[in-house]
Amino acid sequence: MKNNILIIGGGIAGMETARQLKQLGLNPIIVEKNFALGGHVSQWNRLFPDMIPAKEVLDPYEDSLEGVEILLGTEIASINRLQKGWSVTLSTGKNYSCKAVVFATGFRLFEAEKKEEYGYGIYDHVITNSDLENWFNTKLDERVPEKPQAVGFIHCVGSRDIKAGNTQCSKVCCITAIKQAIEIKEAFPNAEVYCFYMDLRLFGKKYEDFYIKAQRDYGIHFIRGRVSEVSETIDGRVQVKAEDTLAGKPVKVRLDLLVLMSGIVCNRENEGLAKAMEMPLDEDGFFRSRNNVNAITEADREGIFYAGTCTGPKTVPETIAEARSAALCVYNYVKNNK
Ligand SMILES: Cc1cc2nc3c(=O)[nH]c(=O)nc-3n(C[C@H](O)[C@H](O)[C@H](O)COP(=O)(O)OP(=O)(O)OC[C@H]3O[C@@H](n4cnc5c(N)ncnc54)[C@H](O)[C@@H]3O)c2cc1C
Ligand code: SF4
Repeated sequence: MKNNILIIGGGIAGMETARQLKQLGLNPIIVEKNFALGGHVSQWNRLFPDMIPAKEVLDPYEDSLEGVEILLGTEIASINRLQKGWSVTLSTGKNYSCKAVVFATGFRLFEAEKKEEYGYGIYDHVITNSDLENWFNTKLDERVPEKPQAVGFIHCVGSRDIKAGNTQCSKVCCITAIKQAIEIKEAFPNAEVYCFYMDLRLFGKKYEDFYIKAQRDYGIHFIRGRVSEVSETIDGRVQVKAEDTLAGKPVKVRLDLLVLMSGIVCNRENEGLAKAMEMPLDEDGFFRSRNNVNAITEADREGIFYAGTCTGPKTVPETIAEARSAALCVYNYVKNNK
């Protein structure tokens, strides 16, 4: 069986795990359902907190994954336990015997149209955080006006929301909103920019500096309070009503563009995969780690490991750190189970 290690998912988590396993002398095989590697990061433009282009993070993998078997447009058909390791059959019919399997299947973006009250897919100038990244990459999206005078961001769309079926915080969208608000000010210096938030969760290194910079250097307005109504005006603008809970008064602004900060939710396939593998899921549908203190990258099933956002929302540096840790756990597991 050589030292085959099957990695399901070729986002940043899967690629980093493969890079490390290759360096450790094992034989990683990446199975990616899409026709390109990179996962969500390949859709982003610049990454917080340093604003480095996503491409600069992704490009070096091309060299470091040289020699690694990469199966694009492929999924898992079945996985069965062997006496030692796992037998994996792919959607192409090909079969591999593997010493271990690493799940790096990532996340799905909350579908903003489910929050009908915010008008995504209904009003002309309502887009998501992901659409805005695409606009930064291509400058093509007719929903983004040429010279917007006012732009708003609504935080926590599909996160911390019982009605949306997701009570968890998505962790990355407060800082993404601040990053995107600054980028909008850079593109349209005359625009007024508003962020409507419930709480600001700026836990990471340099995140607080970013928030201060957004207010001090770019004059971005932060309004604490839930948005109560979004509607379209007769001239095609977007009107947002909210309660400013800090000032204790209602606010009403008219915008040329409204950006919804869609949250990070679990992949739909998790349920089927977990069932097939007899692995538990967490209440939020992400894969459940053996524990969340010192075994985040380990499943409660021998020879199965996790890397990245398949266990919950994470930033890119957290995902990379976890992928490295997963690779080391796999290496030790293989060494101890010859
Ligand atoms: C709008 C937005 C902006 C962000 N910006 C930043 C930023 O600026 N800086 C930062 O640090 N973080 C940012 N993040 C977080 C970042 O996107 C994640 O940390 C990163 O994508 C996690 O990588 P991953 O490999 O775990 O998951 P993913 O990127 O989701 O990759 C998972 C891969 O697995 C594949 N896959 C899934 N299921 C299967 C299957 N069954 N079989 C085969 N393949 C499968 C998918 O096709 C995908 O290629 C942002 C997140 C959002 C939502
Ligand atoms: S990170 Fe911020 S915007 Fe995202 S769910 Fe948490 S509190 Fe809401």
